[in-house]
Amino acid sequence: MQATLESLCLALDELRQRIAPERPTFHAFEYRGRRILYDLYSGSLLQPSPAAFELLRGFEHAELTELLADRLTRDFGGVTLESVLAEVTMLADLGLFVLERLETPEERDDSIRRHIELPTRSGQVLVQTSCNLKCTYCYEVAAKFHDTGKSMSLDAGLQSLELLFQRLGKRKHLDITFFGGEPLLNFALVRQLVARAYVRAEELGKTVGFRMTTNGTLLDDEKIAFLVEHRFAVMVSIDGPPEFADRQRIDHAGRGTTAKAVANARRLIAAQRAAGMREAMIRATLTQQNPSREAVAGYFAENDFQRTMIGSSDGRAHEKRWTDFGGSETASANADVERALDQYLESRRDDTVRPPLGFDFSAGLKRVRDGLASGLQVRRTPMCGTGRNTTAVTEHGDLYPCHRYAGEESYRIGTLSTGIDRERLGRYFAEIFDGYDRHCSACWARAICGGQCPWYLSRPDGHVGTPDDASCDEIRRGTERLLWLAAIEAESTSTPAGERSAPPAHGDSKP
Ligand code: SF4
Ligand code: SF4
Repeated sequence: MQATLESLCLALDELRQRIAPERPTFHAFEYRGRRILYDLYSGSLLQPSPAAFELLRGFEHAELTELLADRLTRDFGGVTLESVLAEVTMLADLGLFVLERLETPEERDDSIRRHIELPTRSGQVLVQTSCNLKCTYCYEVAAKFHDTGKSMSLDAGLQSLELLFQRLGKRKHLDITFFGGEPLLNFALVRQLVARAYVRAEELGKTVGFRMTTNGTLLDDEKIAFLVEHRFAVMVSIDGPPEFADRQRIDHAGRGTTAKAVANARRLIAAQRAAGMREAMIRATLTQQNPSREAVAGYFAENDFQRTMIGSSDGRAHEKRWTDFGGSETASANADVERALDQYLESRRDDTVRPPLGFDFSAGLKRVRDGLASGLQVRRTPMCGTGRNTTAVTEHGDLYPCHRYAGEESYRIGTLSTGIDRERLGRYFAEIFDGYDRHCSACWARAICGGQCPWYLSRPDGHVGTPDDASCDEIRRGTERLLWLAAIEAESTSTPAGERSAPPAHGDSKP
């Protein structure tokens, strides 16, 4: 007997309750003409029939049942509602559309306690608060951090080392990043601390490695030789061609600094290559004054920089500045990504086509595949390790969860003399966890995104707020693009995009 529309609507409602509860378990989207069903829990990427896709999209966008039933029967000639219901029910029976459980308040408190106790494997020592440059988009300039002090003393530096070794717990290796301001303004202290770090590491049975983030303008032969000798992993900030970069990377007199930084970076890289070392990472920041990724990538290629990273100045969720990327830059950046994706696909098919400069689709693909393979877990521990795998120490001896918070009183988590303030660190983690539960737990991209940079979300009052829609929309758009890429690449290699051995246990959390 033919089911009535009323009974079919009831069946639709039941199915909706089963597979589309209060938080998303799947995302149905269309990209470059392909309809994709992404199941969060299993990490599967499927291509349902067009009618089943419409049904799922209707569920996802909370379309009214009667309207949805009407549209499905009208727009998909020859397809019955019963067959669409059967297709989606079969997927649910196969184990799709599972909703992960969030932690109970007791589990959350427990998780915070565990996070406070976790050993730290790296530290950032801000040996110099001030900087010889005054970049227009710099968050430290905006926060007036550069005006608050000068060089870290030897005593504070030595105490920083002790604290970082102590925070290492049973871990074997400590990574120390020298940061600023501009750390090379206090090169004498860097030398002393490196020498001391070796001694302490040996006494404690540990190993130690060094990193530095610099603007490159103060590098000279002596400093380059030192960085190479001690195998520093160096990041040099260079924003691309001088005609754009010199608008923003300026000294205190407003003069451009790119030529000098580039010449020095080339000497550093030559020395690193000669020593058989991994060469410095060159990092650019796109802003309203320097918006073209393609121009930056081309300039890096001309200078034979092999390891590069191009990011954008995004301000903070609650506070945007005139240099930050806005709507029009984002739209044109998206058009650039689409063109680059075409070129990337072409380069995969044809060896004579070069992969696009400045767009690392392989790295994005890996991140998405990892997310698919681990499926949906309670994933609210920030991937970057803020407050957990890192501790930043300022020239004044104040401690912060990471270098970006330096000088923000609401995020100070202790001092060198009093050590880590467990209560403050616990409050910081509670803010991050609660923010995730409030906002990200209801987002379809949560299994892959995992939440944004906590600093970006942090407000001056110590409250880690919710992300702004524009930045999340950007993340979701990029995630759809990469899911699509994962789906078509899996198809061409016949490897299931989200293959994994067993689904994660409910409530699994990442330490
Ligand atoms: S896109 Fe935004 S809401 Fe979604 S998981 Fe990422 S940060 Fe959270
Ligand atoms: S909180 Fe943000 S700025 Fe700090 S380490 Fe994490 S990602 Fe980086």
